[in-house]
Amino acid sequence: MKMNKRKLAILAVAAMMTAAVFIPVAGSADSVPDKRTEIGFYLDTIITLTAYVDDPQILKDAMTECGKYEQLLSRTVEGSDAWRINHANGEPVEVSEDMAVILRFAKAISEKSGGAFDVTIGPASTLWDFKAETPALPDAEALAEAAKRIDYSKLELDGTTVTLPAGMMIDLGAIAKGYIADQIKSYLKERGVENAILSFGGNVIAIGAKPNGSPWKVGIQDIDGEAQTAMLVSKNIDMSAVTSGIYERGFEMDGVIYHHLLSPFTGWPVQNELASVTIFSDSSMMGDALSTTAFVMGTEAGMELIESLEGVEAVFIDRERNVTYSSGAEAYIIQ
Ligand code: ADP
Ligand code: MG
Repeated sequence: MKMNKRKLAILAVAAMMTAAVFIPVAGSADSVPDKRTEIGFYLDTIITLTAYVDDPQILKDAMTECGKYEQLLSRTVEGSDAWRINHANGEPVEVSEDMAVILRFAKAISEKSGGAFDVTIGPASTLWDFKAETPALPDAEALAEAAKRIDYSKLELDGTTVTLPAGMMIDLGAIAKGYIADQIKSYLKERGVENAILSFGGNVIAIGAKPNGSPWKVGIQDIDGEAQTAMLVSKNIDMSAVTSGIYERGFEMDGVIYHHLLSPFTGWPVQNELASVTIFSDSSMMGDALSTTAFVMGTEAGMELIESLEGVEAVFIDRERNVTYSSGAEAYIIQ
């Protein structure tokens, strides 16, 4: 997708509305490489790569990598792995190792969450248009019928061979950006980058700390506030922070917020006490999948799942602005 600078700038501001927000802090020591930023737009998301790096080409190459992943994982790109799976009419499809890794992980999270997370959400998610100028609800019967075609257990994986029954559809919206974040982090580390903060919409991942050793600061979007206003600020060293929230993609109608975190059982946006869930973890794929999963499960069951997992912490914010932390999460919060 080609975009002019102005459009990108507008999108960059819009992207700040999509959850975890990187808060830039001025000043850097003399001996460190220049701070550089590269902005791009892939997978319907503003991507901002900021790193202390002398060679500007490194960040440009990393952005090119993002484009390659979009070509592989986006269900709307004709010929992509996702597109071919969704158009195979029940026939087996050979996919990339990347896709196989993602789907294997997605199935594992589905099993752990009793189906709250379901990568075959496509039949329902495609009936929702959260970007329409005049938002409309999908037809209730069509949505109920779509929900019957959501079932991760019918997605078959044998190495890199994927079989999905006709009529079903995968949608990697809750996991692909996390996977890409992890891959871009690895890519930049291989190119020698030691200090970076990478933002993919609601996913923020750090490489190391800032050059002076202090943590990156990552805001958790205020659920009621203007875009880019943080309700909490976390400190982040070499870690991923992912937020899923009801304010990200959605609309309000007759006092109800219709948002993009859907129940795989009904196809409707989950209406529970929650406004957002933030996950701190090493892997951003894990954080991405779990932020959506925990949101759909709700505070109680979601927290139980988080506490059962090693190396994962969570911050749940409900619609009344109450904050619930997992046992180790508060250690990451500055204010
Ligand atoms: P984003 O970072 O784009 O806001 P999230 O990681 O919060 O996205 O995930 C929401 C997206 O995931 C939706 O747009 C949809 O594509 C997909 N999705 C929605 N509900 C579920 C679910 N219960 N399980 C798996 N994927 C879902
Ligand atoms: Mg997610």
